[in-house]
Amino acid sequence: MKRTVITEPAAGRDELDHREKDSLFRARAGKVIPSGMYGHMAVQKLPAGYPQFMERGEGCRLRDVDGREFIDFMCGWGPIVLGRRHQDVDRAVSEQLDRGDVLNGPAPVMVELAETLVEMVPHADWALLAKNGTDATTTCVSTARAATGRRKILLARGAYHGAAPWCSPSLGGVLPEDRAHLDFFEYNDLESAKAAAERAGDDLAGIIIAPVKQELGTRQEYATAEFARGLRQLADSAGAALILDDVRCGFRIDLQGSWAPLGVQPDMAAWSKAIANGHPLAAVTGSEWLREGAEAIFVTGSFWYSPVPMAAAMATLSVLRDSDALDRIRVAGESFISGLRTQAAAHGFDAEVSGPVQMPLLQFADDSDQALSSAFADEAVRRGVYLHPVHNWFLSAAHQEADIAQALEITDEAFAALGRKL
Ligand SMILES: *Cc1c(COP(=O)(O)O)cnc(C)c1O
Repeated sequence: MKRTVITEPAAGRDELDHREKDSLFRARAGKVIPSGMYGHMAVQKLPAGYPQFMERGEGCRLRDVDGREFIDFMCGWGPIVLGRRHQDVDRAVSEQLDRGDVLNGPAPVMVELAETLVEMVPHADWALLAKNGTDATTTCVSTARAATGRRKILLARGAYHGAAPWCSPSLGGVLPEDRAHLDFFEYNDLESAKAAAERAGDDLAGIIIAPVKQELGTRQEYATAEFARGLRQLADSAGAALILDDVRCGFRIDLQGSWAPLGVQPDMAAWSKAIANGHPLAAVTGSEWLREGAEAIFVTGSFWYSPVPMAAAMATLSVLRDSDALDRIRVAGESFISGLRTQAAAHGFDAEVSGPVQMPLLQFADDSDQALSSAFADEAVRRGVYLHPVHNWFLSAAHQEADIAQALEITDEAFAALGRKL
């Protein structure tokens, strides 16, 4: 197979005039796809410099349909953790493809992957495999209810847990009944969680929480150890399940789960995004006392047993486990962030980078309408660095020192251009 290596981003060039193909596909999409595009990858709400349609990707580089090239800091919004077209993952995929994908039963790799997860994740005594993060979070909620025979689920206000009616951030097409038996607390505010648990009383089935507060356009916040331990105690004393939604952070921070550094293990965790370096797969891991709950519910999907993404996950997890990939992601993130902080200050901006270094977000002070962060992201993307104005970014193991240096040259120009505009 011939590989086209992308090496040069469109640094210093404003190629807005060269977007014929993107415009053409957008016009065609507008006729046959709701809103022209939907969900998180719809660029209608992004600054004008963003392309909608992509042609290829390699490592940490992307090329759009008009040939504009980018150093990518979104990683497919999380799934790419080792870099696109990673050789070990691609080899595992093509070997499994040679044997077949959708068969009339799972392939042995399903058992191997479940064993790997059970071995890797301290709380896990079993693992269930699905396709999307929403499958995993929804399965966790159902399992908690089935295991406890109770109804109430507590979650942090504003947290994203997927795109099903019970958790979608939009109320379009959602009924109040879909949200019955949910109650809310504030992230990192243990007292509010205690109050919610009290309201649920002996009907509390579970608490679902993301390891990091990562909401659009707001400062990213790690859970404090006190908060994480407090939720653990709340769940324990109520006999409810603590569910960690590790869909976004999982396999980027710590292979034992993103609260392992805090010394807190959940009863169940939802995983997806980075688990198979871009291949469609999700997982639920759970402890022994929830096994019967997981056995009581009916969850399945036509594509949930496909061995190809499972083979991709086996390859991804073994690279993550046996190499310094996680260290390299952290180092790349640290150097990108420290460069951005220096540049922002040098250009006279009051900007803050928050969140885990593997998933940072840059925000400007006094920018509640996000005009500055949008203008900055626009200047960056036009010059060949693909960031996001309000959603956290993602680093991968394919971001090497030279990529970060090149990206920082571009962001320096973006800050300068932003300064000229103001
Ligand atoms: C992306 C995400 C989900 C949903 O995953 P999908 O694969 O998009 O269904 C759930 N929780 C968190 C924290 C996420 O970031």
